[in-house]
Amino acid sequence: MLTLPPFQFHAPKSVAEAVALLQAKGGTAKLVAGGTDLLPNLKHRLFSPEHVVGLDAIDELKGVREEQGGLWVGAMTRLAELATHPLVAARHRSLAQAAGLVAGPQLREMGTLGGNLCLDTRCVYYNQTYFWRKALGFCLKKDGTVCHVVKSGRNCVAAASNDTATALLTLGASVRLAGPGGVRELKLDEFYVADGVANTVIAPGEVLLGAFVPAAAPGVVTAYQKLRIRGAIDYPALSVAVWAKVREGTLDEVRLAVSALAARPHVVKRLDAFAGKKAGPATWTELGVAAMRQCHPLTNINVDPAWRREMIPVLVKRAFADAA
Ligand SMILES: Cc1cc2nc3c(=O)[nH]c(=O)nc-3n(C[C@H](O)[C@H](O)[C@H](O)COP(=O)(O)OP(=O)(O)OC[C@H]3O[C@@H](n4cnc5c(N)ncnc54)[C@H](O)[C@@H]3O)c2cc1C
Ligand code: SF4
Repeated sequence: MLTLPPFQFHAPKSVAEAVALLQAKGGTAKLVAGGTDLLPNLKHRLFSPEHVVGLDAIDELKGVREEQGGLWVGAMTRLAELATHPLVAARHRSLAQAAGLVAGPQLREMGTLGGNLCLDTRCVYYNQTYFWRKALGFCLKKDGTVCHVVKSGRNCVAAASNDTATALLTLGASVRLAGPGGVRELKLDEFYVADGVANTVIAPGEVLLGAFVPAAAPGVVTAYQKLRIRGAIDYPALSVAVWAKVREGTLDEVRLAVSALAARPHVVKRLDAFAGKKAGPATWTELGVAAMRQCHPLTNINVDPAWRREMIPVLVKRAFADAA
């Protein structure tokens, strides 16, 4: 049986108290929200914090509310609530779909939006016990100096595996972070970096407050698709979110994000040429090919990268067909 390492648990009642605790404990503290990612990782000795700061008692971090015509989703909003929230389902369908496809029902009852956006990257050579990783000689994400995925690699390419990030990127969302210097807001696209060791710009003393999703313009349709081995519980082997503004059967603007392949979710670039095209199967096929050309899955998870790449146009087409 895998056991938790010893740590001191703290339960602040406000964001200010949580930030002060993180500052006081320096690099020895780790935040926990629902714990569905952190606790397995602690058991695998991927982290050994002396202090764990729980966010569950902070009411200001919970819930979905309207803000400046858009929606604010607090970091401690449970994924189950997000998946079924009437305002989210009505206005940002892809987000509700993505939240509803995370893991399984029990994990969605505990897992939160904040934990999902800050999910540690995943790799078949990293999400293992200490004994297993030691036998292999560790890797540069934790305790070692080499990468087993890209043998001569200097960067960790463990996969961003958070479902909601893919959808939120196409929705133009931003995130708010509170730290010792105050609150800062940044586009979700700027929150992620292409480094599997730590793929967000969150600083050690910061708490993610939540995500702001701007109002959806008239004619906008969205959808989310996910590839996984066991439909009931698994992490994504590939995730695709689409966003399209359609007017009288013609595309005005289109957005597409693909994730679970590399350390950072990928926003597909150079889609301007699709404005003015007919919203229909032929265009969805072209968009799928455009996305596939920009994505190169690696052996970072235990699912065939060639198959994951071939499934990109399939999921893109399914997502647009579903959205439309
Ligand atoms: C069997 C299994 C299957 C899973 N399948 C999926 C899946 O399909 N898709 C998916 O996306 N995830 C999956 N997960 C991972 C996890 O359940 C979800 O990502 C969940 O949303 C994590 O949220 P949490 O609140 O439990 O995070 P926690 O475990 O509490 O935290 C995760 C990380 O985020 C940090 N963190 C949490 N909240 C904040 C905050 N407010 N500010 C700053 N840092 C914060 C923590 O320090 C930690 O590093 C799976 C997990 C398991 C065990
Ligand atoms: S991608 Fe390489 S460095 Fe990163 S976790 Fe996997 S093996 Fe380790």
